[in-house]
Amino acid sequence: MSILVIGSVAFDSVETPFGKVEDILGGSATYFSTSASFFTDVNLVAVVGEDFPDDHLDFLRSRNIDLSGLQTMPGETFRWKGRYGYDLNEAQTLETHLNVFESFRPELPENYRDAEYVFLANIDPELQLEVLKQVKNPQLVACDTMNFWIEGKRDALLKTLPHVDILIINDAEARQLADEPNVIKAARKILTFGPKTLVVKRGEYGALMVSEHAVFSAPAYPLESVFDPTGAGDTFAGGFIGYLASTRNQSEACLRQAIVFGSVMASFTVEDFSLNRLRLLNSSEIEERFRTFKLLTHFDDL
Ligand code: AMP
Repeated sequence: MSILVIGSVAFDSVETPFGKVEDILGGSATYFSTSASFFTDVNLVAVVGEDFPDDHLDFLRSRNIDLSGLQTMPGETFRWKGRYGYDLNEAQTLETHLNVFESFRPELPENYRDAEYVFLANIDPELQLEVLKQVKNPQLVACDTMNFWIEGKRDALLKTLPHVDILIINDAEARQLADEPNVIKAARKILTFGPKTLVVKRGEYGALMVSEHAVFSAPAYPLESVFDPTGAGDTFAGGFIGYLASTRNQSEACLRQAIVFGSVMASFTVEDFSLNRLRLLNSSEIEERFRTFKLLTHFDDL
């Protein structure tokens, strides 16, 4: 089962306490697609500028990601610059340049319109909705966003959310979106905005999944060396939705396994800058870490 994703394909410049890089491959849709490609086929909708190099496109193609929905427009590719302090859970955005995304009007290739699984990765909520309107009969719509859009395009975001089944955001974004400091209360409030399930990403503390009748909490994989957290959230979403699409099942049990696959994928991304760790990853490493997760969270009943 393939997934349709709209989101950013970007050049990132990132500073962490462990190093600094400029104009490396990044973007919400890039991380999502690469991560999901370990589980299923991905159809990508995005735009890049004429400055985007062929070897990045070749990498995405090497992961079997369909690029017929990726437009190249005159101008520069989206650029994001961020910094992390020793608390790697919070990125400080230094610069956001939308560039070619400012005038991007997505037009889905005909074969994308039958998509059953849709992921609206972090990008302008107006674009998210524009893409969603072109999909005939989606079975599962998941969505991510960030403070930049919650502040700048709140109304558009609130118009998108009623069409979303699963919202995947981090805890600061959940508090901001709900205007409520307690994460559980914030989650309950966000469920009234449309989504049936909310997944709250909590960085090194794991993830929380809240729906009307169930709450599930998973830790993050206890890594000793976290190098760069950029893309962890998108990679998490790629593992989560990728696994769900591969099973075609949305039972509570599958959703919980999907949370763990999301956490497993994110744990690899943060081990290096950009998509460097994902480039080297193989399926047996994913399965091995999934099993370690089970041991990590297992305890006996009384
Ligand atoms: P995360 O998974 O939350 O760490 O997302 C990091 C990625 O989000 C980076 O590779 C950025 O290129 C991308 N990004 C940052 N700001 C935005 C934005 N306002 N809209 C879309 N993508 C963004």
